[in-house]
Parts: sequence; structure tokens; C-alpha cells
Amino acid sequence: MKAQPTASHFIDGAFVEDTSGAVIEVIYPATGAVLARLHEATPALIDRALAAAARAQGDWAALRPVERARILRRAADLIRAHGEELARLETLDTGKPLQETRVADWPSGADALEYFAGLAPTVTGETIPLGRDFIYTLREPLGVCVGIGAWNYPSQIACWKSAPALAFGNAMVFKPSEVTPLSALRLAEIYMQAGLPPGLFNVVQGRGAVGGALITDARVAKVSLTGSVPTGRKVYAAAAEGMRYVTMELGGKSPLILFDDANLDDAVGAAMMANFYSSGQVCSNGTRVFVQKGLKDAFLARLKERSEAIRLGDPLEEATQMGPLVSQTQLDKVMGYIDTAKREGARLVTGGARADLNSGYFVQPTVFADVTDDMTLAREEVFGPVMAVLDFDTEAEAIARANATEFGLAAGVFTADLTRAHRVVGQLQAGTCWINAYNLTPVEGPFGGNKASGVGRENGHAAVQHYTQVKSVYVGMGPVDASF
Ligand code: NAP
Repeated sequence: MKAQPTASHFIDGAFVEDTSGAVIEVIYPATGAVLARLHEATPALIDRALAAAARAQGDWAALRPVERARILRRAADLIRAHGEELARLETLDTGKPLQETRVADWPSGADALEYFAGLAPTVTGETIPLGRDFIYTLREPLGVCVGIGAWNYPSQIACWKSAPALAFGNAMVFKPSEVTPLSALRLAEIYMQAGLPPGLFNVVQGRGAVGGALITDARVAKVSLTGSVPTGRKVYAAAAEGMRYVTMELGGKSPLILFDDANLDDAVGAAMMANFYSSGQVCSNGTRVFVQKGLKDAFLARLKERSEAIRLGDPLEEATQMGPLVSQTQLDKVMGYIDTAKREGARLVTGGARADLNSGYFVQPTVFADVTDDMTLAREEVFGPVMAVLDFDTEAEAIARANATEFGLAAGVFTADLTRAHRVVGQLQAGTCWINAYNLTPVEGPFGGNKASGVGRENGHAAVQHYTQVKSVYVGMGPVDASF
């Protein structure tokens, strides 16, 4: 099986190769087979990408917003027209089952292109009357934006970052994770096919050092990172040095609170979606499942039954519901957390081992009960199919324990009592919350984290603030009143 792209990078409207860069092997996580060999970007290529972006951005910003929007909408249509091919590419790159990549990954990217195409022409300034004089404001693009992606949603992340950047008149240089480098190259091709002028969306491959070189370049106005908290700290600090704008979409350890009066099957289904979708490799996952004591036994019994029915297997098979983890590194990390949970006294309800399938990086859907707040499993982001179930008595206790974390990405509440639902959500320290739902992130809604989980928001109208800056213009309508 091969998925070798035309070349490693896409710069100034064309595929570019430079074999002097270190090799990146792209692995199919379901078998460990090498799908493609790419090369890291050399300093000369990084410079070319940034120069192309800087050169192209001015003319792009000078277009009418509807003209930019038309190109983005065409790109969204192309993504949908190539849906099956793109889903397969995403499955090869990430190991996620086709059942997911057909409906979640590229489709959510296409939604972002369509949404920001619609929003672009609505972005306006304001007029501030001052009697004789007045001020008007303009929302201007930032310039060259750098996007750096994580490996768990490669196509979605590339679209969620590039769509608002381009819609509002910026250019982008995007560095995918070296673990999943293929989708962003395909997106660059699609943008070109849709009529995007060369230089506006460039893809350079590489590990952290390539990202580091991009974010410290004087031509860069903004950095948008999706990644872990430790990487976020480094990237935020480097961006601050150059006084650059940032969006930080980082990790989490989000609480999902299930009250006794919640619908049992909905609560179980949501907890499973919040821990097993994408083999648990979702930043906003509700990995601390707080279950009120009256619901606990029924919840665990139903959860065990449904978890054991999940079909693990070749992600390219139609019937497969759960694929492998993305890499050997991630597999080792997740198995380490499972061992630690056992050692620290959490009670294994189901799973807890590797699934031996075709030498892929498969882990059984795993549930631990009787998890306490001090256990490693309740404190650190695992990023695998490992659910921690904790129990609680009162609403106040659940809120306090849910908030007792450095993270603040997401949170969910299941209850039949809507007054309680809103009361609880009002006190949860999280950027994205759900009531009687979990992990739904339509592009219309702002998404992002509080506390260590992030800075800024992606999607929704909120994204306008993060890809534009305000210019304030004072207009004098009379003679200058000079003091001298
Ligand atoms: P990661 O290790 O933090 O890497 C993220 C990206 O940053 C990668 O492209 C990485 O390159 C690059 N990078 C690493 N060090 C860098 C540096 N010093 N300067 C510039 N760039 C650098 O994260 P990951 O393991 O790929 O992804 C999983 C994490 O992402 C989880 O913590 C998850 O919660 C988070 N995430 C958050 C969201 C959100 O929206 N909040 C969404 C998805 C994922 P290489 O990988 O090539 O080294």
C-alpha cells in the first residue's frame, strides 16, 4: 500500500522536493507498513515558503471579500466531490476507521471553508461620532500566519486554521505533524484547483525544529498551534518574543458529569463517544467520567457490555468501528498509562491490553472504575481509548473536583434537570461545554480552552478577532487647534 505524494512540500503554488532534508517515514498505523517517504524542510525551503506568503498576501488582501469567499467555497465543493478519496487518505495517515473519516474529518474541514467564506464579506468596522470629527475602524488582516498541526485531526486542523486565515485576507504557511503529513499537501492542491493564487497556502514538512524556525521569523504575524500543553508553552513563549498573535489549541483532561437522573443509554453512549472515538485521540475527550453514586452500577454494567461489542479492526473495512493508535510511540505511552492505573489501584472493568491485529498499534477499549482524583489516570492526558470512571455524591462536590485541574478545554453534563445543567455549566472552568451531548464541534460554535488548555478560539464569529486586527482612523473635519 502506497500513498506517496508528488513531493514533500507545497510552496508558491507547486510541489517542491529537497532530498537533503532528514527523512520522514509515513506509517500506516494498522499494519506498521511504510506508506510514503518525505523529507524535512531545509532552512532554504522554509525561507522560500515565508517569502512566497509575504509576497502573495498583499494582493489577496486587496480583493473584495466576496472574491476570496468564492475561491474558498469552490475548495469546499472540491473536498466534498473527492470525499471518498480524501477519507481513505485520512484513514491511511491516521489509522482512523473509514466510518469516521467519511463523516468527521474532511467534511468538518469543508464546513469551515464554507462557513468562513460566508463570514468574510460580513466583517466590517464601526464609525464612532465625535461631534465635528469622527473615528472609523477597519478590520485588517494580520499578514503571514503560521499554522502548526497535531496528528489527531490533520485535515480538519489544516482547514480550521487556513479557512479563517485566508477568508480574512491573510496568507498561511502550514506545518503538519510529521506523524500525519499527507492531508495538508492534498489541501494545498485543492486550494490551487479552486483558484487560490500561488503563495497563499504553503505546506512545509518537518519536526519541531521546522516549527521553531517558522515561528521566530520576522515576517510572521501570527502563530496558531494545535498540540500539547508542553509544546504550547514553548511556542507561546517564542511567539511572545516577537510580539506575535497566537491561538493555542492544547490538551485537556475534561470532566463529563453524569447525574443519577440522566438517561442511562445516552450517558453511556456519550461516555463512549467521549473516550473511544478516534481511539480516544481527541483533545476535548471527557476522560474523567464523574458518575453519581445512584447511577454507577447500572452505568458500569451497560458500559462494559457496549464497550466489549466495539468492532476493532482494519480501518479500511466498512464494518470497523475502532482503529489503532496513530504510532508506536503513542501505543507505548498509552500502555504505560494502563499499567500505572493498575498499579495505583484503579479497578479494570474491561480491556486493559493490546489487541493483536496485523502488527498494528491497537489497544482494546479500556474502562477503569473507582478512579480517585490523585491517580495519574485522573490527572494526565492519556490520548488513547482509556476511560476513567470516578464516583461522586453531590453537585457541589462534582463541580469542585471537575475544576481541580490545570486544564480547561471542555466539559459535559448529563441530567434531566435543565436548571441544574445550566447551573453546573455556569461554574465549570472550561472553554467548551455540552449539556446532554458531548464532543460535537460544529464550525458555527467557537471552540477552545481555558487555563492551560489554550488561548483564543477557533471557529464561530470569535475567529474573526483572531485573524484580523483593528485599525482606528481619526478623521479631522475642521481646522487644527494647535497649542503652539
Ligand atoms: P505536540 O507533540 O505538541 O505537537 C504539535 C505540533 O507542534 C506538531 O506539529 C509538532 O511537530 C510541533 N512542535 C513540536 N515542538 C515544537 C516547537 N518547539 N516549536 C514549534 N512546533 C513544535 O502534539 P501532538 O502529539 O502532535 O498532538 C496531540 C496533542 O494535541 C494532545 O495534547 C491534544 O490534546 C492536542 N490537541 C489539541 C486540540 C485542540 O483543539 N485543543 C486538538 C487536537 C489535538 P512534530 O509532531 O512533527 O514533532
